[in-house]
Amino acid sequence: MIIDFHVHYYPKEMHKDPQAFLTRHKMEVLLEIMPKEVWQNVLKPFDFYSEYMEKYGIDKAVIFGMSNTPEGCKEMNNAVCRVTEGHPDRFIGFGYIPLSNPEEALEEFDRVVKDLGFKGIKIYQRIHGLRYDSPRLRPIFEKACELNVPVLMHSTQLIDADRPDAQNPALLLRSGLLEDFPGLKLVLAHMGGGLVYFKDFYYSVNQYNQNKDKSYSSLFKNLYFDTSPPNWGKAMIRAAVEIVGDSNLLFGTDYPYTTARALSNILESNMPEESKKRILGGNAARLLNI
Ligand SMILES: [Zn+2]
Repeated sequence: MIIDFHVHYYPKEMHKDPQAFLTRHKMEVLLEIMPKEVWQNVLKPFDFYSEYMEKYGIDKAVIFGMSNTPEGCKEMNNAVCRVTEGHPDRFIGFGYIPLSNPEEALEEFDRVVKDLGFKGIKIYQRIHGLRYDSPRLRPIFEKACELNVPVLMHSTQLIDADRPDAQNPALLLRSGLLEDFPGLKLVLAHMGGGLVYFKDFYYSVNQYNQNKDKSYSSLFKNLYFDTSPPNWGKAMIRAAVEIVGDSNLLFGTDYPYTTARALSNILESNMPEESKKRILGGNAARLLNI
């Protein structure tokens, strides 16, 4: 079974008038950071993703909306719910919660899991100006443990030249959050921005030198990484398997910001068939309890 763990859902309103939609949801920044070549996919109706699933043999997909206002989050989650209820065999709903409003974020987290039957949440802390070690993430992680659902967390690429230091995903490793929530199922999108490749580095080799004896390695046990976007090619996916093992990697396309290579990078990678099966769907099924 193939499960795509990272699919953005945009409603018709976005396809018709992206500027108006993104302004209403206070996400205008996407107009600036979205590469021009992905707009042709963004502007296609969501049915196009269903065709993509058919074409590439993807059985199920985790889908989520995005918004930067509490009302917008509710609206997007309800829209995602309509899609998952229409195709419960194909789509798995993840909630999007308003990180800018901590109280409402927790309420909405509860609502999407308990009332809408969603299997987890997506957070995009960067768009809300939150650092990766922000104390505001603590109650969110606590709630995820209480509800026993995974959190899919955006990860800014470590190589991103425009990335301010506060947006360094490595901050998560020294935040204390991972030690405090050993039961947390945290999925870092985009190979953790490359963090996956730093598993065996020590605190002593970076600028955040707080505990020279402590290694990053032990913190990776409960960290999962999705393989989107397709820029992580075959060799890098193979290297990730060697570093963190085939049980902590999840296939993801980051649709609509994707290409057919998202899948072929794994299918054509030189690794055991059993590893491919785990990455393509086995690990996701385990995390989602399906
Ligand atoms: Zn994404």
